[in-house]
Amino acid sequence: MAFDYDLIVIGAGSGGVRAGRMAATYGARVAVIEEFRVGGTCVIRGCVPKKLYVYASRFSDQFDLAESFGWQVDASFDWPRLVAAKEKEISRLEAAYASNLEKPGAEIIRDRALVTGSNSVKLVSDGRELTAKYLLVATGARPFIPDIPGAEYGITSNEAFDLPELPRSILIEGGGYVAVEFATIFAGLGVDTTIVYRGDCVLRGFDEDMRRGLDAGLEDRGIRRIYQTNVTALARPADDVLVTFGDGVTAPFGAVMFATGRRPNTEGLGLEAAGVRLDEAGAVAVDRFSQSSVPSIYAVGDVTGRAQLTPVAIREGWYFAETVFNDNALAVDHSLIPTAVFAEPEIGVIGLTETEAATHGDIDVYVARFRPMQNTLSTRTERMILKLITEQDGGRVLGVHILGAGAAEMIQLVGIAVGMGATKADFDRTIALHPSAAEELVTFKAPTYVYRDGRRV
Ligand code: NDP
Repeated sequence: MAFDYDLIVIGAGSGGVRAGRMAATYGARVAVIEEFRVGGTCVIRGCVPKKLYVYASRFSDQFDLAESFGWQVDASFDWPRLVAAKEKEISRLEAAYASNLEKPGAEIIRDRALVTGSNSVKLVSDGRELTAKYLLVATGARPFIPDIPGAEYGITSNEAFDLPELPRSILIEGGGYVAVEFATIFAGLGVDTTIVYRGDCVLRGFDEDMRRGLDAGLEDRGIRRIYQTNVTALARPADDVLVTFGDGVTAPFGAVMFATGRRPNTEGLGLEAAGVRLDEAGAVAVDRFSQSSVPSIYAVGDVTGRAQLTPVAIREGWYFAETVFNDNALAVDHSLIPTAVFAEPEIGVIGLTETEAATHGDIDVYVARFRPMQNTLSTRTERMILKLITEQDGGRVLGVHILGAGAAEMIQLVGIAVGMGATKADFDRTIALHPSAAEELVTFKAPTYVYRDGRRV
């Protein structure tokens, strides 16, 4: 059968663009269908604008610190100017992404796609039906909004980037990446910020020292945390949003943001009718090679619910193209993914948490807590935390957890060593770089404490 294309990609985000570009480079005839903006969540309303806003928000800390080094700073902040500057930068990136696709010959179609069969999609506005030997679903995920009365008065990260003005106060529901990152952004920009989270401390699943350290950092920055409750209703009797909490208490906030997780974008795509199996969370179920239950349909990125991270989607997209269009079957290893939380203080992590590692065998735990040098001239008491978890037998490094300035950059590089199976002896052999915070990782002597037979001793 003759197809219109070798590959139709649905969604021009991180995973879809990489797959489309690579497949086109290998000579495939590629169409990429996108209903919104080229670049996807990461470029348009995720990682990139988020990091720009993180930079913007960190100046307030820096201005405070500057005084301890003799500076006198008279600062003011202009939100619309930041939003406009952000928009200019993401538009530049959007154009670069489109050009990356078009240069090797991929065609970008601006429309919404509906899967109509194992080899066909329909363009919803245009009405045309297109066929391809392979379909790649790369539609990403969207913010989940709890089903409560008045939910429409809340915003999500999608809207937070482009608010016409900064609210006087904000309540953020959730305790994950988005909640803590946006809490520190808003607080850094001068907004009175509160987190409400159903758990007992932010960042469930992270190492306990990172969670407690971040919680203390949020406290230092004046960010209130209301734990073990949730939002049950919103109303808008006047300008403010009136929030009702699980215990019946009500309070007004300038804005309310849901950071309650993200759901795969599979609804209304026609996947199930085409025979594609979805998992319980509604994500496309795929094998190691990103192939769905329909052999001609693949899926990469957040829509598969594997790891909702841009570099993972990019790698999955690339390996899909290698496997299908370059006769080079490659499966992504999801086991050792470095990750960072760009809150204040920042967190960088690779490998197992202490709790996880302790269930795998005997381990040694090395922890350094200290006031970072940049703070020593000020009255700031915040501590940086570096934690190394090693196997007792052989010393292989199982996990590294860092909280403090530069944590993300450090973890990216430590990740190389950990991925290579580095041991404590390898770390010890490395000469320290002084003065730095990272040198603590290579100067640990005796373990701070150990686990034997699953028990801390
Ligand atoms: P997360 O899954 O990280 O956090 C969701 C939070 O919402 C959790 O604290 C969860 O609670 C809570 N929650 C979920 N459902 C409800 C509910 N019905 N009512 C109340 N609270 C609820 O999602 P995020 O949206 O923060 O981020 C999505 C993903 O995007 C991340 O997992 C990450 O992979 C990625 N991301 C990565 C970033 C980075 O690399 N720096 C930045 C931003 C996002 P509980 O813990 O109890 O389940």
